[in-house]
Amino acid sequence: MMTQYLALKAEAGDCMLFYRMGDFFELFFDDAKQAAQILDIALTSRGEHLGVPIPMCGVPVHSAEGYLARLIKAGCRVAIAEQIESPEQAKTRGGSKALVARDIVRFVTAGTLTEEALLEPRRANLLVALCAVRGQIGIAACDISTGRMELEECSADRVGAALARLGASEVVAPEDWTDAPLDAIARPARDFASDKGEAGLKEIHGVGTLDGFGLFTRAMLAAAGGLVAYLHHVGRGKLPLLLPPVARAREAHLAMDEATRASLEILVASGGTRRGSLVEAVDRCVTGAGARQLADDLSAPLTDRKGIEERLALVAWLHDDALLRGDLRAVLRGLPDLGRALGRIVAGRGSPRDLGQLRDGLSEARRIHDHLAKTADRPDLLEALLPYLTGHGALTDLYARALVPSPPTERGQGGYIAEGYDAALDELRRISGDARRAIAALEAKYRDQTGIAALKVRHNGVLGYFIEVPAGRADALMAPDSGFTHRQTMAGAVRFNALALHEEASRIAEAGGHALAAEESHFEDLVARAVAARHAIAATAQALARIDVAAGQAERAAEGGWCRPAIVDEAVLDIEGGRHPVVEAALAAGGRGGGDRFVANDCHLIPQDRLWLVGGPNMGGKSTFLRQNALIVLLAQAGGFVPAARATVGLVDRLFSRVGASDNLARGRSTFMVEMVETAAILAQASERSFVILDEVGRGTSTYDGLALAWAVVEAVHGSNRCRCLFATHYHELTRLAQSCEALSLHHVRAREWKGELVLLHEVADGPADRSYGLAVAKLAGVPAPVVARARAVLDRLEKTRAESGGLAAGLGDLPLFAAAMEHQEEVVDALRERLFALDIDALTPREAIDLLYELKREA
Ligand code: ADP
Repeated sequence: MMTQYLALKAEAGDCMLFYRMGDFFELFFDDAKQAAQILDIALTSRGEHLGVPIPMCGVPVHSAEGYLARLIKAGCRVAIAEQIESPEQAKTRGGSKALVARDIVRFVTAGTLTEEALLEPRRANLLVALCAVRGQIGIAACDISTGRMELEECSADRVGAALARLGASEVVAPEDWTDAPLDAIARPARDFASDKGEAGLKEIHGVGTLDGFGLFTRAMLAAAGGLVAYLHHVGRGKLPLLLPPVARAREAHLAMDEATRASLEILVASGGTRRGSLVEAVDRCVTGAGARQLADDLSAPLTDRKGIEERLALVAWLHDDALLRGDLRAVLRGLPDLGRALGRIVAGRGSPRDLGQLRDGLSEARRIHDHLAKTADRPDLLEALLPYLTGHGALTDLYARALVPSPPTERGQGGYIAEGYDAALDELRRISGDARRAIAALEAKYRDQTGIAALKVRHNGVLGYFIEVPAGRADALMAPDSGFTHRQTMAGAVRFNALALHEEASRIAEAGGHALAAEESHFEDLVARAVAARHAIAATAQALARIDVAAGQAERAAEGGWCRPAIVDEAVLDIEGGRHPVVEAALAAGGRGGGDRFVANDCHLIPQDRLWLVGGPNMGGKSTFLRQNALIVLLAQAGGFVPAARATVGLVDRLFSRVGASDNLARGRSTFMVEMVETAAILAQASERSFVILDEVGRGTSTYDGLALAWAVVEAVHGSNRCRCLFATHYHELTRLAQSCEALSLHHVRAREWKGELVLLHEVADGPADRSYGLAVAKLAGVPAPVVARARAVLDRLEKTRAESGGLAAGLGDLPLFAAAMEHQEEVVDALRERLFALDIDALTPREAIDLLYELKREA
């Protein structure tokens, strides 16, 4: 057995091996130690290997899913080795001592789950394959629980952003790729070949060319090759549901890098949970599929006006008709998760219950269709979705006839095919029913015959049906001519068989076996029908999800008084009464501040006034203001209403959000270094169509460095990037930039001192902040009065010196602007280049050459 085990373990590689032994999956050696610790189950030992006891632990097969879920969560991957023949087969094959043959039937990994119990209903579960082809990175992503597959290509510096958007559960990459993400699983490099990827996709979808699905680059196809090969590997040759791949175009989505996503807390809040995230504050979907689609929309907002307007029109239509919306959501709420049920069925792990879910989900889709088709003035998007909700009549009729109303999740016991579907099956069931009744009658007969009132006919897995009498009364049945044969003597009872009982029992067993086989063959047939219709069923599931998202967005808007944003091409951002959905919800829930009301604020950026410098005290609401405007842009471009009284959003190509170092401790690099790396990315990438929020940039270093950097960054953003930007700072000195930067204006969050106490009004007003309220904030925070008093004395002294010297930023008045400084440098470089170009080096004497070098150096 150990030889067999070790061979399978070698095949499992770095996966844990679940080794099937009867009713248990057993784990040995290090697997056992690790699993026992993660699962908190007993670690024992079994036999010896090389003279040392073998550590072992086990989990029952019937509850293995729960244990698997915990191991996967803990980051393990598991290979499942099943018995692939029965003990009887093994004996016939190799004699009485033969070992049952076992094989790994599948690998369970975080990115390849289909089981309902192992998946989160409201989150997509993505597997991503990455590889580099001639400097471009191909990315293939798929959610095998629903079959969605997407291919894209990006440059090497955008991989982080793409992975952040996808939020994959598992990443695979070629083993020889040195720049692969750290947590990627290494796979054979030969799998990542574009010709293999193309051939694989053609074969899966039965097409001669992929042109009908979209345009795919070599990098995309190579990644697809790696993905399909990995799926083959984990499914041991059986592929899961894969829908035709969709090419994700480079410019189709609002670009956001990893830092921006993290700082805007789109899908997860800073604590790593969904609680406190944007999606939690927005999500009013009533189906898991809708919630997954919404998360996808928020991760990848659109950049084309038409797509955004289409979504908005549907939300608006549902927003205006509360009655229709309520009805629709009530029906949607009862829907099963069609996409995932289909995923399990196609993966060969479907149950009768999954078929029942297809039947119910598809019939409900039809009802929703009929309901919506009666409405007037339907928006274009709905008109386009409606046809996908129907067309399954034949399948649902078949399933309605074939299946019982609530089919079980297990098929081992049968009983899921409805009566009347198959006359032969009904007959088999009638026979076993008759036999059961006959056995009940036999019990009465035997009691009469023996005069033992306590006689019972019973059943167990080992003996089958038998007659049981109390030990003291067994003698009568023991007599050779009694008609009973002895089977077993227990402590208080003796068990017998009898010919008539045996005959009835055989009838039950035979009919039951045939009935099970008949049900099994119907099941396979019903599954095949679903597999054949998989693309249409998946399309229905997607259409329902899209409708749920729109209805949920409409519901959210109605609940919070949100508005439909106007989408325009000009580089403006004009928001009246904007709010931060997460902060507002937290305040309303009576969190900190005990039910404070959120103060709505306006934002008005136009090309001539595109950079707002926002000052004011700490805790005054600067970050909240910055982020709410970024979130409004994001929500608008995702095609939803926004938390504002009125909003005009000029389409944004890239969104950047940066928070000054010090609160966010990121991966070992010094926080200031992180801050600068991120700032560098913005200065390199932001265009005139971008929107940037910068919060306290420069805070992570000394005052002088920080101020100098903040100053230079503002000038560069204003003069070179020319994007829309909100810049929060507590450096009062930066207000001087208003004199030199014509498209920059000053704003502040208002605060007031009232009876010696600081009152933060959270109101954004025009003009510079009149003073910094640092000391008042310290007092508010509970810093002891003597310390605050001492600080005041120090401050007075500092301010006096500042007034005399002209302050921290003294002498900056005549500093040439960033753009002007850059221009000057460029002129010098151009002049140098021209002279070098005109030079005939061969005509120079060594003496002339050295003189020229000195001269050039002087000029540079
Ligand atoms: P700053 O960036 O100026 O230090 P924050 O934006 O972090 O301040 O805001 C601090 C706190 O003030 C928030 O956690 C929130 O509770 C409250 N707050 C911020 N903006 C508002 C607002 N517009 N209305 C009500 N409360 C607000």
